[in-house]
Amino acid sequence: MTRPGTSSLAPPADLDSAIERIRSHGGRVTAGKRALAELLYAEQRSLTADEIVALLGDHDRSAIYRSLAQFEELGIAEHLHLGHGQAVYRLAGLPTVPVLCSACGATFHINRSHTRAFVERVSKHTGVTLDLTHFPLTGTCQQCAATIR
Ligand SMILES: [Zn+2]
Ligand SMILES: [Zn+2]
Repeated sequence: MTRPGTSSLAPPADLDSAIERIRSHGGRVTAGKRALAELLYAEQRSLTADEIVALLGDHDRSAIYRSLAQFEELGIAEHLHLGHGQAVYRLAGLPTVPVLCSACGATFHINRSHTRAFVERVSKHTGVTLDLTHFPLTGTCQQCAATIR
């Protein structure tokens, strides 16, 4: 199982660096891996494994899973848990933090810079460095709040 933050590697600067990283870590850059990397860079958003399989079309599902695991180890991709469903994958190092409505499942994104003061305060008081990406911040969205009221 891949745990978040196990990759000590900073996110690659671009697609070419990502491909180069796979190669320099002894991985063969198959057509499938290249297509997966291209997809993650093109989409810049979270996708379920099913969505990735569908978008890639003619690629072996288990090969895609293995590639995703390798991409996580290499710091190219990361996975998130949005709600109780399956994990979603996205490019590592995106500047956004997911915020989820636990009533309707709507997902919002805020810029990481807006969380900095809070993250620093929690770290100062507890020594815990928050990872706000692996599990999203959850709450009730405006629409759901209006319905409940
Ligand atoms: Zn996880
Ligand atoms: Zn909602």
